Amino acid sequence: MMKRVAVLGSTGSIGTNALDVMAALPDRFEIVSLSAGRNTDLLCAQTERFRPRRVCVREDAVGLKDRLPAEVEILEGEGGLIDLAVDEEVDLVVNGLVAGVGIRPTVAAVEAGKDVATANKETLVVAGHLVTELARSHGGALVPLDSELTPIWQALELHSDRDVRKIVLPASGGPFFASSRTEMAAVTPDAALNHPTWKMGPKITIDSATLMNKGFEVIESHWFFDLPVDQIDVVVHRQSIVHCLIEFVDGSLMAHLSSTDMRLPIQQALTHPDKLPSRADPLDLVEVGALTFDSPDLERFPCLGLCYDAIEMGGTAPAVLNAANEIAVSAFLEERIGFLSIPEVVDASMQAHDRQPGDSLEALYEADRWARRKAEDIVTGSGFGRRSSASVGRGS
Ligand code: MG
Repeated sequence: MMKRVAVLGSTGSIGTNALDVMAALPDRFEIVSLSAGRNTDLLCAQTERFRPRRVCVREDAVGLKDRLPAEVEILEGEGGLIDLAVDEEVDLVVNGLVAGVGIRPTVAAVEAGKDVATANKETLVVAGHLVTELARSHGGALVPLDSELTPIWQALELHSDRDVRKIVLPASGGPFFASSRTEMAAVTPDAALNHPTWKMGPKITIDSATLMNKGFEVIESHWFFDLPVDQIDVVVHRQSIVHCLIEFVDGSLMAHLSSTDMRLPIQQALTHPDKLPSRADPLDLVEVGALTFDSPDLERFPCLGLCYDAIEMGGTAPAVLNAANEIAVSAFLEERIGFLSIPEVVDASMQAHDRQPGDSLEALYEADRWARRKAEDIVTGSGFGRRSSASVGRGS
């Protein structure tokens, strides 16, 4: 059956890969709409190629009308994204939006009963309890787009809940897996942006280096798969070849292996349960040779532990974790704080927070705003500035 698709965030890494996958399967997917942030050049090229009926851009995009065919409807801002998400002519919303921009359009799509395939971590980290409840009550599928979570989702779809004892999320360990705390205190944004296996945007690359990204995936897994966090483990796996492990009640493990190509999990999510040929390179096991597994070190990577804490606390705690992390990551990229201060800022923000139930989107946004102010205060007014940690070893 032909699926009519809205691709939100079409010029980002998830969006471009998703379009690549769907372009190769033209009898399955029709692109109805696209949305982009700053990259209007690529949006124009995508519009020429995929002929969407509607596009959405930021409010401040100028001169776009003259560069697109007259019949293409141009929408703007968050309201435009929500219009695309609830469009009657759309069956499936592919959400590759970055950060908090992704939350409201996802909620709107789920409320409209759309199937939603989402790579936007913030949606489930901040509002997992609301979004999964809405998906249940409105009947649309909520599917992860992620190299680890998509194969887990696919494997769990094929087994009964009773069969599964736990899931294991592999983490690449990032560029500082083997670094000491002293070395980590002195790392520059450039070094942290150099991810060993995946090419991604700056925010998620820093989140991968701190293991916050893996912690977010623990929280997402809790909501996507309805599993308590003590049934979700993380293991460091440097080769990024094993993308998920499922442990069954009989003690056996099933692993999912593939080459590192984002098009593969995206295709798995979009064409499930069918397996179709893809453009991803087959995996050469002999070339890979050895696969290694280590425990994550929570002393050097406290962000992972903070994510487990946040989901145990529940309510507004994960929203505070997420917002404080965004502020801390920006401060690190601007060289206002050192790398090891990222978890310190997040931890201090969470400690200062008076947890609320967070049973509405507004309550979660309020917690988000509070946490941003708090984290910014901690960054500017505290002992977490550059001198406390970032100066160690720098320039020597
Ligand atoms: Mg991942």
